[in-house]
Amino acid sequence: MRAVKSTGNRTTELALRMALVRASLVGWRVRPSELPGHPDFTFVRDKLAVSVDGCFWHGCRMCHARPVRSNAHYWRTKLGLNQGRDRLVSARLRRMGWRVVRIWEHSLKCSAAAVVSRIERALNRAKRSPGRKLC
Ligand SMILES: [Zn+2]
Repeated sequence: MRAVKSTGNRTTELALRMALVRASLVGWRVRPSELPGHPDFTFVRDKLAVSVDGCFWHGCRMCHARPVRSNAHYWRTKLGLNQGRDRLVSARLRRMGWRVVRIWEHSLKCSAAAVVSRIERALNRAKRSPGRKLC
């Protein structure tokens, strides 16, 4: 599992960053250290926190997070703790008045435009076009 990095694996974050730039969506910051869980992106003015959750590390229930065969107990426990931490961090942010959008890695790979639409809707900046469907 050394190929799957828990930190420094910024491919999905970079993909979302590029999608935000292409959509000319402004006002976001990357990984603010002062917020719980260090969300991947924040829109400070709108108090919106956006996290991109890797399918493996955050336990995607679709086929993307296949169970690991070796050391299975360790990995089940580890991924369960990650999911619990995700819930706690989201709850803490909400108690602080932030809205939280969690995006799955697979959604971003499927349609970055749909992910951007979701963020625009959360920001109430959606253009008058029908939202694109997330996968
Ligand atoms: Zn997934």
